[in-house]
Amino acid sequence: MPRRSLLLPLTFLLLTSLACQTIYKAFELPNPEGLATDAFPTATPKAGQVTLTPPPTRASVTPKTPGATATLQPTLPAEYADLAQFQAAQRDGFTSDIAQFPHATRYALEVTVTFGDASAFLDGRERIHYTNQQTFPLATLYLMLWPNDRDQYLSEMTLQNVRVDSVPLNFSLENDGIAARIDLPQPLAPGAALDVSAEFSVSAHPGIDDTTPARFGLTNGVLLAPTFYPLIPRIIDGQWQTIPAPSGGDTTNSDTALYWWRVTAPKDLTIVASGTVIDSSLAGDTQTQTLVTGPMRDLALVVGPLELYQREVDGLTLNAYVLQDHAAYAPKMLDFTEAQVQNLQAEVGPYPFSELDVVDAPGAFGGIEYPGEIFIGVVGDSDFFEYATVHEVGHQWFYSLIGDDQLLQPWLDEAAATYTEYLYQEKVHGSGEAEGFLGYLWDDVKASDNPDLPIGLGVGDYPSERDYGTIVYSKGALFFDALRRELGDKVFFEFLHNYYAAYRYGFATSQDFQATAEQTCACDLGALFDLWVYKGGQVKP
Ligand SMILES: [Zn+2]
Repeated sequence: MPRRSLLLPLTFLLLTSLACQTIYKAFELPNPEGLATDAFPTATPKAGQVTLTPPPTRASVTPKTPGATATLQPTLPAEYADLAQFQAAQRDGFTSDIAQFPHATRYALEVTVTFGDASAFLDGRERIHYTNQQTFPLATLYLMLWPNDRDQYLSEMTLQNVRVDSVPLNFSLENDGIAARIDLPQPLAPGAALDVSAEFSVSAHPGIDDTTPARFGLTNGVLLAPTFYPLIPRIIDGQWQTIPAPSGGDTTNSDTALYWWRVTAPKDLTIVASGTVIDSSLAGDTQTQTLVTGPMRDLALVVGPLELYQREVDGLTLNAYVLQDHAAYAPKMLDFTEAQVQNLQAEVGPYPFSELDVVDAPGAFGGIEYPGEIFIGVVGDSDFFEYATVHEVGHQWFYSLIGDDQLLQPWLDEAAATYTEYLYQEKVHGSGEAEGFLGYLWDDVKASDNPDLPIGLGVGDYPSERDYGTIVYSKGALFFDALRRELGDKVFFEFLHNYYAAYRYGFATSQDFQATAEQTCACDLGALFDLWVYKGGQVKP
């Protein structure tokens, strides 16, 4: 998601909101994740800019009183054991999908959220059932502690009481504290499983707003807490992927898992949590929700003063959570979401989960995608609100369902999500506006210093964050258009359906994408992929 590069000169972004609306209208901004990112705190404040609230320094964390951890048992019961319970998170017709995942990682997780004077705290414990699905033994295991990322998370995280199969083990922190390495007493054989238990604490701080966007922390009294728990990363080419996220891109990579989880939070606030609530209760000043998920890569949690507006669409519940001041925007949020969900169900494949949460999260860049839950950072009168919403909904297909490496091959989800904006425009606003959108993308590429770069590089491999944004989002979406023209509409949409069918809940690479396209068209697309994806070169409308 986040894109720090400038689709528009930075000065535009510091104009009044009215001026910005005019600009977005005129340019039909294609990359909804660009706006807030453009105004990331690294930007130099300009004269006349509203005074920034400095993000809290990490040294000034409010000392916390012992929280829920003190009362937690060291090991959770194996609440994840019953595979059938996860069916509750699936729409009718998709409950049988769960049976495909007997060996997927399963998490049981409890977290208690409390709010202090300025910060919020998450104290929890988890138990993970992990099966070695590699063809070789594993001598180590990693847990990612993403709230320790210095770039996009206004937070710190600690890990305690790590046990593997009930045996207490030491761990060591790597990569600036985002990766906890656990050396196993004995290698885990292929096909064998183990149980990891751990406790964790996270402090989350305020400071997210339009001018200082971030992924994790507090905005308008709302706690944004995606991936707040120790997460098992992916293994790629035999190596655990524990690298820090390059600036400007998404952070996590993880395989589809099944989650049973329980959230306790102040009862006067709203809990927004991935998955489906299977139980809820009140006790004193707190509320507790228990949830299960379908096959999902990670979890996102939001707790705050949000109002819920719901809509049912074909057995799918769309939940719009908005701040009270934004209540008037909830119907539009649902309209944009419903139209894009219907559109992509027809053009790509069905949405299998029973809920989709859309959360008003001012300053969460333009928007951020998580499985079954999206943050919209720009709810308001601008056209950008519409495009941010349909872009993030597009990520439910490209990232959540069809997984990809967000760090190393980000075009697979970002170019695709940007192209879904085009598909939405074609359907909702007509071909004239849709063609104008492509024209804007071409203008963006032409204005680039490096228009010949291929779209298939890693986030950190582009010379600048601007290049990353222009090439991966704009040129990448134009590649989808070029592929569609090469294949023709009938074969192109057949390909999208085949790609979805082959990789839903899975993980696709650029080569997988190409192979599926070539199988569908029974043709050789090598030259087209070399030009756009792998090698680069001059492309024209
Ligand atoms: Zn995106």
